[in-house]
Amino acid sequence: MHSLDEFATAKLGELQRASLRRALIDTTRTPGIWVLRNGRRLLSFCCNVYLNLTHHPVVKEAAIAALRTYGVGAGASRLVSGNHPLLGELEARLARLKETEAACVFGSGYLANLGIIPALVGPGDLLLIDDLAHACLWAGARLSRAAVVPFRHADVRHAQALLTELRQHHPHVLIATDGVFSMDGDIAPLHALAALAQRHDAWLMSDDAHGVGVVGGGRGSNFVQPIKADVPLQMGTLSKALGAYGGYLCASAAVVDLIRNRARTAIYSTALPPAMAAAAIAALDVIESEPGYAALPLAKAKTFTRSAGLPEPTSPIVPVLLGEADAALKASRLLENEGYLVVAIRPPTVPQGTARLRLTFTAQHPDREVERLAELVRTRILAPAPATAAEAQ
Ligand SMILES: *Cc1c(COP(=O)(O)O)cnc(C)c1O
Repeated sequence: MHSLDEFATAKLGELQRASLRRALIDTTRTPGIWVLRNGRRLLSFCCNVYLNLTHHPVVKEAAIAALRTYGVGAGASRLVSGNHPLLGELEARLARLKETEAACVFGSGYLANLGIIPALVGPGDLLLIDDLAHACLWAGARLSRAAVVPFRHADVRHAQALLTELRQHHPHVLIATDGVFSMDGDIAPLHALAALAQRHDAWLMSDDAHGVGVVGGGRGSNFVQPIKADVPLQMGTLSKALGAYGGYLCASAAVVDLIRNRARTAIYSTALPPAMAAAAIAALDVIESEPGYAALPLAKAKTFTRSAGLPEPTSPIVPVLLGEADAALKASRLLENEGYLVVAIRPPTVPQGTARLRLTFTAQHPDREVERLAELVRTRILAPAPATAAEAQ
């Protein structure tokens, strides 16, 4: 066997033995909230389309109209010839929603973080990062070649201690955190981090991929409290609540201008397709004009936790911690047999020993299904027969 294939086969064997091998399973989303998988129709509790806008008639029509007129792809990077006017319109809408001077869109949220962070900090600078931050914040952090120092999850005192010790050695400091944490659903202590950043002249960046559209009246995690948290770098994605595809940064005019000049994933990558921009603009129309609709995913999540006997959530993401990877896989299979798609989340996506089910609630999940799922989780997963109770802890 070729040594390359030998290498791959051995690696896959290691993953298999640790219950960490993954496989792609064809899944098609039908209009609404159902998916088709292995010939079965399942109700999905693991899509990030919190507002079901991927299938909203107005959003789809906007994309189709743009596609008919402008074609499929953007054709080039924005600095070359790909700067379609719809991108500017989308950026103005994002900046308005987030109350910043300007915004810059990227090909995806992942690409946004890979571009933004190295454009702002580099060798000699310091980057403090929440240790549960999303993989693409970590990737951007490493790419920047700044000194990357994690602080314990949501632990402002730890971040403060690190700043007190390290601030003086670095010209610039960036503090990076998820706004809504993607695997736990909790919201970062943004007010406290903003105050800390201000005291130490550090720059606070939030990745609000799971916040926009669903918390803070649809504006995101820094708008959850009556007074908004001052976060000068608000990054996010168009692919979750907005139902489209692409990423963005909302910031001051000067920062956005610098990003356009220096973020390599914006400069050396083809622009977002016009149809995606059109879809995202239509999605923002829905979010801004129907605040009651945007509040539904969190309300559904609360219905679930109340019935399942779990702590009340602050976002539409609800983790059900099960410990070992195989316990999470077993729970996921049990729910699939009952007609629900709830994937098991395992290391390295989450820390060792914290494998879990991760449920995401959407505006259109029927209440009776949410209740039935909660009942299954409560009786069959969290409090199963004595023989397996230890596993479920
Ligand atoms: C999904 C996600 C991203 C990546 O966004 P894409 O547009 O899907 O690339 C970034 N950050 C967080 C926290 C996410 O959950």
